[in-house]
Amino acid sequence: MKPAIEADNGRNVTLVSTAVNLLGLDRAGLVDYFAALGEKPFRASQVMQWIHQKGVAEFQRMTSLSQALRDRLEQCAVVHAPEIVVDAQSEDGTRKWVLRLDDGNHIEAVYIPEDDRGTLCVSSQVGCALDCSFCSTGRQGFNRNLSTAEIIAQVWLASRLVEEETRPGREVTNVVLMGMGEPLLNFDNVVSAVRIMMDDFAYGLSKRRVTISTAGVVPAIDRLGDLLDMRLAVSLHAPNDGLRNSLVPLNNKYPLRELMASCRRFIEKQNTRSRITFEYVMLDGINDSEQHARELIRLVKGMPVLMNLIPFNPFECSGYRTSPERHVYRFGSILAEAGITTVVRRTRGEDIDAACGQLVGKVADRSRRHRRFEQPRFGMRL
Ligand code: SAH
Repeated sequence: MKPAIEADNGRNVTLVSTAVNLLGLDRAGLVDYFAALGEKPFRASQVMQWIHQKGVAEFQRMTSLSQALRDRLEQCAVVHAPEIVVDAQSEDGTRKWVLRLDDGNHIEAVYIPEDDRGTLCVSSQVGCALDCSFCSTGRQGFNRNLSTAEIIAQVWLASRLVEEETRPGREVTNVVLMGMGEPLLNFDNVVSAVRIMMDDFAYGLSKRRVTISTAGVVPAIDRLGDLLDMRLAVSLHAPNDGLRNSLVPLNNKYPLRELMASCRRFIEKQNTRSRITFEYVMLDGINDSEQHARELIRLVKGMPVLMNLIPFNPFECSGYRTSPERHVYRFGSILAEAGITTVVRRTRGEDIDAACGQLVGKVADRSRRHRRFEQPRFGMRL
């Protein structure tokens, strides 16, 4: 195969003798690319449709392009996705793919089918730099950001594989950036990938069907609100700074007062003023008391929020236990009585290690964090 270079943020394309991976270019990036080839801007939408809607990777099959252009693209471009090395199916229908990146790192993507939708959970980084104390991805340390092509490739591959299933109605209707990594620390590549997800010539997902989940990178929440109209989920997990500092170390940098203010600004900027989702992992005896629930009510007072209670998914040596169901429901009903829309997230795909916080891939850790733990868990079953 031709050596491929990837545009660093889906836009900045330099034509060099090596091939450009068109999978990672959003529409503006493709328009620039075709302009550099002396082609008209509409080629961008045509090629986007071939790649993302028809799933075609070979330029000779893109029959609405002139033969000359097809030949030229064959010389200077590729449509290249990481290789799928594991395709695991859970008893509950959840499907997990392990993808091998060109540099040998592995990442994971998870498809969660429900009656009325199919949600794809996408990774944004190789590992994660944040080190939240209850998350197994964080334990592995961090290697690097994913390129736009590597992020959108997860949607590209999953869309085709899911449609190949015999059962009707199987498709990717929603994307959540809740896989490995902190999406807002890979801002430009994530924004370009989201633009491709929402582009009518690609996946055409509406703003209510694409969610970025963040541990609370305050300046990036502000930038995101300026650029995109989409759903935001914030991993809250604690109602006060003392507790949150210990669970989500990023809180030391962006404490709750600043985080909540940025969430309010985000809501103001959205056309629909839609709700922010707060994720709250339920840890037995840590953050799940009645007192915590009441503190949480005071924290989000007056904000349009959806509270998502996530039963903790245990992993080896985590040091935490899942809150008993009755505590989760007690906690949820206190919030609900205060008028806060609250849902308990159903755990899916546990048997294939595909549940929240269980995605580990295989990360060549550069942060050396995994050494802190006696048994580093590269728990992926290859
Ligand atoms: N870095 C982003 C997105 C990745 S994690 C973020 O922090 O939001 C997606 C969600 O799963 C987050 O809310 C995260 O806190 C939660 N999570 C992580 N580990 C978990 C575990 N072991 N059990 C349940 N939820 C977990």
